[in-house]
Amino acid sequence: MSEQKMLDVSQDTNESSLPNLSFNPGEKIDYEYFLDCVHCGLCTQACPTYVMTGNENDSPRGRIYLMRAVTDGRVDLNQNVRRHLELCLDCRSCETACPSGVQYGRLIEPFRLEMEKEIDTERKTDDWFHKYILFGLFPYPKRLRKALSFAKIAQRLKLDSLVLATGLWKLLPARLGRMATLLPKIRKADGKLEHVMPAIGKRRARVALFTGCVQSEVFAQTNYATAHVLQQNGCDVVIPESQGCCGAIHYHTGSEAPAVAMAAQNIAAFDRDDIDAIIINVAGCGSMLKDYAHLWNDEESADARSGFASKVKDVHEFLDELGFIPPKAPLDVKVTYHDACHLAHAQKVTQQPRNLIRQIPGVELIDLLESDMCCGAAGTYNLTETDMADQLSQRKLGNIRDTGASIVLTANSGCLMQIDRERRVQDESVRVMHPMDLIYCAYTHQSPYDYC
Ligand code: SF4
Ligand code: SF4
Repeated sequence: MSEQKMLDVSQDTNESSLPNLSFNPGEKIDYEYFLDCVHCGLCTQACPTYVMTGNENDSPRGRIYLMRAVTDGRVDLNQNVRRHLELCLDCRSCETACPSGVQYGRLIEPFRLEMEKEIDTERKTDDWFHKYILFGLFPYPKRLRKALSFAKIAQRLKLDSLVLATGLWKLLPARLGRMATLLPKIRKADGKLEHVMPAIGKRRARVALFTGCVQSEVFAQTNYATAHVLQQNGCDVVIPESQGCCGAIHYHTGSEAPAVAMAAQNIAAFDRDDIDAIIINVAGCGSMLKDYAHLWNDEESADARSGFASKVKDVHEFLDELGFIPPKAPLDVKVTYHDACHLAHAQKVTQQPRNLIRQIPGVELIDLLESDMCCGAAGTYNLTETDMADQLSQRKLGNIRDTGASIVLTANSGCLMQIDRERRVQDESVRVMHPMDLIYCAYTHQSPYDYC
């Protein structure tokens, strides 16, 4: 990109204003990561925020330029710059598109983490929503269970549909109302996860299941289904009790110390000598678990951290490698598949879920246009950047509708909630499921339409 174009990139970012030299959120970033970007722009069309706004500052190239300019002291970290960086979904689609191997996550994640520490500016994580909901409730399954007991009663009385249909949720504080509409129908699990669940048939592996925080309460049945699918594939499934939240909620909203503490707890919780793999069925958590080593700058216990990461496998990745034993009963459904960003772009797991789905007898898998474009969920993005999140979920649902599929599959709790919300808002009949739930239906001879 020419220098003139570079200057255009920062035209609404006050490049000429005096930088705040006392604060540099990029100073801890390895500068080589910036230099990897050759400004070719081949990533821009893969970037959801650029596609929606058409603003170069909302593109990967523009954001890399801004972060580097702030780091160099050429641009002030003013509100405009912050907005362009905050609007990034951290979906990592740009990493998949980039021919130069730019590790965009290594730039935006630490940069935003430091940006949150700037004491002169009001920190968005200091508000009640971050303190009591995102940080105080979501990572703690027992607290969440209590809070959800009211939601379950409301769902039984069908008050949730009423609140959404009448727009009553808009009377609640904005993000609380949003959260209420995102909550899917909570399905009681078909059984309890035991400490050890033995393989069905010939034993082929011993694995531990990471159950997550929100996942373990809102999608308890998906966890149960995942364990059952693993058992059907000859795996002993162990559920370590002392595991906890992966830390992604804190980490991606700039709160580093609690994220590191959660990572340390999880590294200690899994007896890696006793298992072949640590299995995860949520893309966002899986990406975080595989990336634990980068939370620490020191070399201390590096082996333990990389040893942990090397055992973490997305459930589809693991079963595809192991050799999937498909269910025998046909389902007779047309489905499509949405790639969760943190599975497709961060973990490069794209074919394995499709391989498993295609092996379910009677299932027709239809390609989804822009399947790997973010649906707007992006962790907690859909609670804080609602306009962009809505635009992206509307675009996603339109593409899903065009496939004619009756079920859309996706392997991330955030995507499940975001797409399900959009289809309820638009009163679409398409069902939204995790692939493990569909496979479980086939093993247990249940109709997916009665299941969800
Ligand atoms: S991130 Fe990669 S694709 Fe995008 S401008 Fe830089 S080098 Fe080109
Ligand atoms: S992470 Fe996603 S939203 Fe952010 S710059 Fe890359 S492609 Fe765009």
